[in-house]
Formats: sequence, structure tokens, C-alpha cells
Amino acid sequence: MDSSAVRSRMVQKIAAQGVSDVEVLQAMGGVERHRFVDSALANQAYEDTSLPIGLGQTISKPGVVARMVELLRNGSAGKLGRVLEIGTGCGYQAAVLSLVASEVYSIERLRGLHDKARDNLRPMRLANLHLLFGDGMQGYPKGAPYAGIIAAAGGEALPQTWIDQLAMGGRLVAPMVVAGSASGSSSNQALMVLDKTPQGVRQTILEPVHFVPLKSGVA
Ligand code: SAH
Repeated sequence: MDSSAVRSRMVQKIAAQGVSDVEVLQAMGGVERHRFVDSALANQAYEDTSLPIGLGQTISKPGVVARMVELLRNGSAGKLGRVLEIGTGCGYQAAVLSLVASEVYSIERLRGLHDKARDNLRPMRLANLHLLFGDGMQGYPKGAPYAGIIAAAGGEALPQTWIDQLAMGGRLVAPMVVAGSASGSSSNQALMVLDKTPQGVRQTILEPVHFVPLKSGVA
């Protein structure tokens, strides 16, 4: 599959949605998303849609991946430092992150998906990407402190461990369950940005999103 033309159309759409960080747009253009989904779904890989990846989980919409990575980078010049991703899934966002950060630690609680991500990512030989199997609610203390932490699953509350493992000046981007959702909405998650500053943490709630739930323990 020669996917570069459809991928550059995807990147144009992402830019039209308001993502302007050149590093992010380049990374989105550089990762072959069709390699991260079942071959039966490959023809949908460059549409702005989430797709099933097995075990009841989904690969996030490319537009949302770009939006969240842009928020995580927060306009920083050059590459981000060390980043922790909670919820490797099929490994797509981890690959995007590896192109915009110096080191990426990505943790997944489902063994089947951790193994799948490893297989999907092997041909890309991303030496700065470290895949971990475990409960991301505990973070990953060995890689801390992180310049950025990004979650691909939404919980009711933010684990304190994440804030503890964030560097001073670091930023956390995560979907979170929020109260007071629009009526009729099946989920009530919103994107949340947390900045760790010497004056304390500053939290901002942004647009509604739909992510799979954050769960504790491994399986
Ligand atoms: N970034 C992924 C999105 C995967 S969906 C991609 O690009 O494909 C979110 C993932 O988070 C699921 O695979 C789910 O199993 C995982 N997850 C949920 N709770 C978790 C936890 N506590 N620790 C690690 N992974 C978790």
C-alpha cells in the first residue's frame, strides 16, 4: 500500500482542524497508521476515526492524537524530554510520540496488546521508545521525572502518582470523567491539561472526548 498521499491528506485535515505545531504535523505524516490496524481495516486507517484493535480497545482518532500531542508539547522548541504514555494499545500514538520526544516510556495493562504493539513497532526500530507491561495507574517511577505524561484512557480521578512523577514545569494531558456533561451523552469525559508549577498544579478542562476507561491492575 502506497499510503503517503492519503496520509498527507490526513495531515492537511488535521492542520485545518487547528493543529499548527510543525513537529506534530511532521510526526503524524511520518507514522504509517495502517500498520497498526487489522488489514481488513487498513483502507479506513487515514480517516479521522477510532478503530477497534482487539480486546475491546480502540486506536484513537488521528485528529485527537495530534491535538493531545500538540497540547503536551505546549509549543516547546525542538524535542520534548522524557514522556510517559499510559495505554500503549496498538502502539500508534507511542510511535508519534517517539518522533517528538527524546525518550518515550509507554505502558499497557493488557498483555495481548502490549505484545501486539511490540510486533507493530518492531519494523520502525524506534530506539528511544520503551514498551512496558504493567498498571499505568502507578506510572513508571524508573523513568521519572517526565517532561510530559499523556493518557489514552479516561478515569474518574487523576492518580497522584502521575503528578508526583511529573517534572516541575511538566505537563500532563489526559481524558477525565467530568461532572455536568451534556444530557444524552453516553460518556462525560473531557480533555484535561495539568501544569506542574512552583506555585502548585494548574488544571484546565477542554473539549469533550470519548476514550476507553482507565482500569487498574493487569490482565
Ligand atoms: N494510544 C493507543 C490508544 C489505546 S486505547 C493507540 O494509539 O492505539 C487505551 C489503552 O489504555 C487500552 O489499550 C487499555 O488497555 C489501556 N489502559 C487502560 N487502563 C490502563 C492502565 N491502568 N495502565 C496501562 N494501560 C491502560
